[in-house]
Amino acid sequence: MYAINETHDPALRSWVEPANAADTDFPIQNLPFAVFRRRGSDEAFRGGVAIGDRIVDLAAAGGAGVFSGEAATAAQAASGDCLNPLMALGHRAWSALRLALSRALREGAAERSKLEPLLVEQSQAEYTLPSRIGDYTDFYVGIHHATAVGKLFRPDNPLLPNYKWVPIGYHGRASSVVVSGHPIRRPQGQTRGSGDTPQFGPSQRVDHELELGFLIGPGNELGEPIPIAQAEAHIFGVALFNDWSARDIQPWEYQPLGPFLAKNFGSTIAPWVVTMEALAPFRVPFAHPEGDPQPLPYLDSPANREQGGLDIKLETWLQTGAMRKAGQPPTRLTLGNASEAAYWTAAQLVAHHTVNGCNLRPGDLLGSGTLSGPNPDQAGSMLELTVGGKNPITLPNGETRSFFADGDTLSLRAWCERDGARRIGFGECSGTIVAARS
Ligand code: CA
Repeated sequence: MYAINETHDPALRSWVEPANAADTDFPIQNLPFAVFRRRGSDEAFRGGVAIGDRIVDLAAAGGAGVFSGEAATAAQAASGDCLNPLMALGHRAWSALRLALSRALREGAAERSKLEPLLVEQSQAEYTLPSRIGDYTDFYVGIHHATAVGKLFRPDNPLLPNYKWVPIGYHGRASSVVVSGHPIRRPQGQTRGSGDTPQFGPSQRVDHELELGFLIGPGNELGEPIPIAQAEAHIFGVALFNDWSARDIQPWEYQPLGPFLAKNFGSTIAPWVVTMEALAPFRVPFAHPEGDPQPLPYLDSPANREQGGLDIKLETWLQTGAMRKAGQPPTRLTLGNASEAAYWTAAQLVAHHTVNGCNLRPGDLLGSGTLSGPNPDQAGSMLELTVGGKNPITLPNGETRSFFADGDTLSLRAWCERDGARRIGFGECSGTIVAARS
């Protein structure tokens, strides 16, 4: 895991003035990566790093000779239309680029004259997926989510006995992961119906799942597990992730092989990937509660116990079509924290995923699973927030929702904040439900 270094110094200020605003997601201590171009242009997508309300164009900065040595190699690897080559380089290269960017963007930096003309305004940018996602695996680390959802189906026995021993996951669909802002079409499908035959039609229970997406770095060869002590070196960074779900299609189709069409009609990932190094000041101890089974040796390490957790605040915001039309801002549905929600750490997910020899590759995506807190106002899905649709929520304009209506925009936001560290944020992960195909 990463040590705190000069790039985390809360006193650092940037010559990009908006990066010094107290509430910006992107101060100089963050420096997250995305793949972008100017909106509406036919420019090539290329890697960029957020600073305040601007983007450092890594291809242009590299071409202008801003970087040298390993940082230049890393910037070059981030100059194409996906970050996979950068992710494959490993943490030494990522750190070198972070340090070079931190020094070049500081107040008084000599690189300002070269860099400033190359900055692109975020308000003029459009994004594509941060990586070419070869494989997407979705876990289920949110123990309060697993318990609440289990309760809806099995009131007396909400949590299955394997949950506290093994990180539960399944293989998702990578082809339908889209970047924030991409519309999500309401899926059609089979639902149980009320009689002897199922119904077919548009899902009436489209829901979100508030998750963190972990993007994989170098990865492993088939047959060679990643030990937990090395697991974090294989995680490039973290992006907000919404694993949209059709709650009426799900219960009818999921037995005996697991989630399928209820999940793979679309998943939204934020454009910005916050690196594990940027998160170093926000690591927290991790432990299973006393009395619970302790992790098997392959899922346990001193570093994971000391700082395996991530202290990330998580929010969901909803703006309905009617709110948008009336000029009303989104309303916050929930506020929670990843460290309270997660029963397994990112390192444990990597160690578990590979313990049988399964290979992870650069740019692969691991979803955390829905990160709900212990309280109802920390729910990471409408399923929990409305108790399976039984208790609809009322919005400030009087509209009610059990699940999402066409035109609803659901946005995830997240940030880290601790004494002695600069606040950093994750940008936004947002998607709007559009009507089913007729
Ligand atoms: Ca999920």
